Amino acid sequence: MDSSPVPGFMKYFTKESCYPNQAEAMRYIADALEKGEVVLFEGACGTGKTLSALAPALEIAARQNKKVIIVTNVHQQMVQFINEARDIKRKVDIHVAVMKGKQAMCPRHKDYEECRALSENTYELLEMERNLLKSKKEFADATEKYKTTKDPEYNRLRAELEKEIQEMENTIHRKRDLSCTPLYEVLKIESPAFKNWLFDDVRSPEDINEYANGRGMCGYELLKREIKRADLIICNYHHVLSQEIFMTLLGWLEKLPEDLILIFDEAHNIENAARSHSSIVISEKTIEKAVIEIGEHADKFPEKLKEDAQKILLCFLSAIRETYDQALEFGERNRIGKNWKDIRISDPYERFDVVKSVFLKKINTYAQEEGRVLSETSLRMIMESVSDIGYEIDLMYHEKFKSGADIIRKKSNISVAADYLAAHLLLSENPNYYPILNIRRDQQSGEIYGRMELFTCIPKNVTAPLFDSLGGLVLMSATLRPFSMIKETLGIERACTEIAFPLTFPAKNRKTFAVSVPPLFSSRRDDAQTLAAVEDAIVSAILATDGNTLIYFQSFSEAERYVHVLKNHEKIQSESIPVLFDEAGVSSNAVREEFFKIGESGKRSVLVSYILGTLSEGIDFQGKRARTVIVVGVGYPALNDRIRAVEAAYDIVFGDKKGWEFAISVPTIRRVRQAMGRVVRSPDDFGVRLLLDARFQKKSVSRLWKYSVYNQFPEEEREEFMDISPAEVEQELKAFFSGKNTTE
Ligand code: SF4
Repeated sequence: MDSSPVPGFMKYFTKESCYPNQAEAMRYIADALEKGEVVLFEGACGTGKTLSALAPALEIAARQNKKVIIVTNVHQQMVQFINEARDIKRKVDIHVAVMKGKQAMCPRHKDYEECRALSENTYELLEMERNLLKSKKEFADATEKYKTTKDPEYNRLRAELEKEIQEMENTIHRKRDLSCTPLYEVLKIESPAFKNWLFDDVRSPEDINEYANGRGMCGYELLKREIKRADLIICNYHHVLSQEIFMTLLGWLEKLPEDLILIFDEAHNIENAARSHSSIVISEKTIEKAVIEIGEHADKFPEKLKEDAQKILLCFLSAIRETYDQALEFGERNRIGKNWKDIRISDPYERFDVVKSVFLKKINTYAQEEGRVLSETSLRMIMESVSDIGYEIDLMYHEKFKSGADIIRKKSNISVAADYLAAHLLLSENPNYYPILNIRRDQQSGEIYGRMELFTCIPKNVTAPLFDSLGGLVLMSATLRPFSMIKETLGIERACTEIAFPLTFPAKNRKTFAVSVPPLFSSRRDDAQTLAAVEDAIVSAILATDGNTLIYFQSFSEAERYVHVLKNHEKIQSESIPVLFDEAGVSSNAVREEFFKIGESGKRSVLVSYILGTLSEGIDFQGKRARTVIVVGVGYPALNDRIRAVEAAYDIVFGDKKGWEFAISVPTIRRVRQAMGRVVRSPDDFGVRLLLDARFQKKSVSRLWKYSVYNQFPEEEREEFMDISPAEVEQELKAFFSGKNTTE
């Protein structure tokens, strides 16, 4: 009998027993967090990763007076976290707060700037009301004293106070119109009712809004006031990856980063999320508005600075316009629609920025006309001065809105444009940033306009300082490996504990087939023979599956092509199998729910989706919801300039060949593994994973050599792959499902 003491974290463990490896994972995580190490945790879908991370993190946080924050970028996961937290709360009375963004919770639908002004007014209103009460009390005292003493001094004081009170009441009346009533209601209450209600259960943001709206209050502000009492905070990536929001959150929590244990779910997505947080964008319209605004506020600028600012921004604007005008081929202009189209202005490897070069030529002409030299450094310094004045102007807009002089909160474009140009001049040739020009057609005016973007290739500047400052960090995902890449790309330099547990559900409950349809290279995807082989294999799998079939294609357009084929296929029609499509303009949730409903009723249907769609990650197709998942093709992304730029940046930073691996190959295989992991979600669940492309096969290592992707899967996963031909699909699937009870 095992006589070792029960680890402290087990008091937060809510299941009757652990999955295989779960106890071990919790021990490793507890040890690592105790030592302040970073945990890299890969565990197959449905093996209890969330609880394995939460239990030790909560136990250590309780002992070390820390707080645990768990973040996700997938809505469905947030729902799962709430459920897990509820289970824990039934065992241990932890305080949990679930956060959403301010705009999502604001009952008045105000944006950040409007809310700021309304909030300031509300606080000032309360202060005025307190002062009014004080003055009224003084008035009452003076009245009383006059009555008893008949001293005319008290009468004079009364008259003064009466006048002051009248003025105060008028100001308060005006202020009330400019304040936020739901916030006012929050600030007025002293009762612990909300706190008690909030921590009596695990409340979702929707629950909080319902509570607050019913009482005429702001749910966001109510939550903000109580969040410091929470032991566990559930929120999304944005709350921690945006430095500004993270600092605000720390302020509410009254904690430092070292007092936090942060758990990232679906951590393979951090790189992309951080990239979008650190990339900077500016539209041609913003620059245009900034130039006009400088003219409108000419009195705020020293004369020469005003002239320089307008001239420099106009040079940048015309450099953008000239560049895309010249890049468009004959007739291409007419084909530009409402979606952004990338225009190459810099080779991803060579890095010569055309827009910047055209801009600097224009600046030279301007400077020469004036007999002076404008270097890049002096241009940046001018833009910094312009930006400072832009911020002052924005503050003026804030004050005008706050005082009611403006009904709409104007936003200054001056500092936005100046900051962008200064950053562009500094960074556009830095390998970590890639400048891109996009254009599209304005739907109202019908005119084409452009947008400049400084795309971040390696977002270490966001993640490294954050990860370095935390008290504890767990990165978990079903597809986190290779760990060396995660560490390098996110800039993790602290000691790490690496945990990777394979799928431990009974092997008899799943089969993974790699089918020898011709490799779906983009050049050969349209071959008649390839199309027929893919179609036959898919139809055979659908017909042989005792339940729902889920199919992921490499792209939306590929999915669209096959959905027509399947809907019109004689055998699919004769079996009356509905073919559902996760298409643009239709709610993915609605399609998914319909698919679940058909599967759970014991019938069959097909759901056609695509890798990178919202249904390829974080959705649980457990049990009868899906029995077979098919991944068609390896799914390399279209090698556009952004991906090439990321590849080039990795090549430069980490050495040759890392670029392809880090930017393209590893993320592609992770997406395939995520898609495969949608089925077989518990020990009793069963299903088939079908990989349609010869490059997945074991024999492709020798036959297709460098095109093979077999060895890019973790060893224990690829060892399960069975190479079969399209003709064998039906028979293999029928054999698998014949021994299973699909009615459960
Ligand atoms: S304080 Fe609350 S209700 Fe008022 S504007 Fe801000 S978020 Fe909206």
